[in-house]
Amino acid sequence: MRYLPKLFENNRRWVAEKTSVDPDFFARQQNSQEPPFLWIGCADSRVPANEIVGLEPGQLFVHRNVANIVAEDDGNLQAALQYAVDNLKVRHVIVCGHYGCGGVQAAMGDPVEPPLEDWIDHIRRIYRDRQAQLDAIEDMDARWRKLCEVNVAEQVANVCASRIVSDAWRRGQQVVIHGWIYDLGSGLLEDLDLTTDGLRAEPGSTDDGVATSSTRDSP
Ligand SMILES: [Zn+2]
Repeated sequence: MRYLPKLFENNRRWVAEKTSVDPDFFARQQNSQEPPFLWIGCADSRVPANEIVGLEPGQLFVHRNVANIVAEDDGNLQAALQYAVDNLKVRHVIVCGHYGCGGVQAAMGDPVEPPLEDWIDHIRRIYRDRQAQLDAIEDMDARWRKLCEVNVAEQVANVCASRIVSDAWRRGQQVVIHGWIYDLGSGLLEDLDLTTDGLRAEPGSTDDGVATSSTRDSP
């Protein structure tokens, strides 16, 4: 093995550890996945999704990008959301931001080079919409933390407003959306109390989000 031998060594050791306590672990993995959770998080290397919530392979469907943004025109995100909700039938979608997010911080500063700037602009717009509230926070670290939280709230709203999730609610599929934030300094998660299950349906919904004749397949 010529390149990055340490990583392959780590991989072999991980396989040995897994199979020593559960010989059929990988045999089961190759058959199917039924994760109850979709995790939408930041790509930051310090926020490893499975690890911080103690979930094994097969339990968490993951989409990560810079600053955990949920954009309507992001085909990558929307495809992951569609597959998770429509095919995997996840019961929970977790949008998890983190304090100390460099993507969020970039949106508070000078423009950067594209394509990163185009991406960061999603958060600049959030900042502009709440500029008076955010600029009233004089301490820059506190302002940064607040924008990290506001960003999670905004992305939770975007998940709820997505065609995929609103269609799922309309047909009675149970999927709960959560907004969390992770503290790099303590390793602790905090629930930002943004949880919504779609039962308070948006105006114009024909059935108030209550289950009718679901077309959902049995898992
Ligand atoms: Zn981040």
